[in-house]
Amino acid sequence: MERRPFGLLPREVAVIGQGTWYIDAAHRPTAIAALRRGIDLGMTHIDTAEMYGDAEIVVGEAIAGRRDDVFVVSKVLPSNASYSGTVAACERSLARLGTDRLDCYLLHWPGSHPLEDTFAGFERLREQGKILSWGVSNFDVPDLDAAWKAGGKGQLVCNQVLYNLGERAIEHAVLPWCEEHGVAVVAYSPFGHGDFPGRRTPGGLVLEEIAASHGATARQVALRFLVRKPSLFAIPKASSVEHAEDNSGAGSLRLTEAEFARIDAAFPLGPKPRRLPML
Ligand code: NAP
Repeated sequence: MERRPFGLLPREVAVIGQGTWYIDAAHRPTAIAALRRGIDLGMTHIDTAEMYGDAEIVVGEAIAGRRDDVFVVSKVLPSNASYSGTVAACERSLARLGTDRLDCYLLHWPGSHPLEDTFAGFERLREQGKILSWGVSNFDVPDLDAAWKAGGKGQLVCNQVLYNLGERAIEHAVLPWCEEHGVAVVAYSPFGHGDFPGRRTPGGLVLEEIAASHGATARQVALRFLVRKPSLFAIPKASSVEHAEDNSGAGSLRLTEAEFARIDAAFPLGPKPRRLPML
């Protein structure tokens, strides 16, 4: 599994991690086995959120006994993101996860609490050792500018955003902004939240052909495209061991520039939307 610097953090993080939205809807032992197998295969970046029902509890069971092997990320809901609300939400997440710290804590999307208050909460948690770093999610460029100003230079380590072959809007401005500021970009819903290109579609055929020439799968090819730049990471969600094993294969896959160009042409960027899309 390839690992790379995560924003300005001194620590390296796996390029392919594991999402957990709706993982609590799966058969519990199977979901835990999938996460554990994913960790065994190097997908140690585990993404969860207070919003995801019992997902934090599932993650807690999956990481029990191997906390030091994983990079755990959770998120505070915007409605909870006052100074004291942020601190309290994090403490609830830590209890559900059965851990004493988060590797990174995110504001789930921009809300109505002033960013200064949320980030003061993050800094308090960092002083207490309850979080080791913090970032944001679903932030467009004006939000990022505001976050950079409110949080201080270099404090923001990542922006987690919607990014898949069918939705490349971040490439217009968000990705360049993050590259310029040394902020990691984490691609959520990398398979379109269950809407992956079918193998009989023109784009799906391109993925299948490239995959066949590498002894890989179409999903591995798609994930590798999404992490083709140094600032990019992806967090596919899998609730079976088979899917986790498949996804981890993207962590060592290498594609040529010509193959990236074919994928780029098959899944065009499209015009810049007025607002950053999110799920
Ligand atoms: P996704 O990862 O794009 O797609 C998940 C779907 O793909 C599930 O139905 C899963 O099935 C299936 N799948 C996974 N691996 C597969 C494989 N190898 N072969 C066939 N099917 C496979 O969707 P997502 O859950 O929306 O996004 C990933 C993560 O990003 C979330 O879980 C969450 O942690 C994060 N996220 C963050 C935000 C945000 O606002 N920050 C929003 C959305 C998502 P099984 O479950 O059956 O394996």
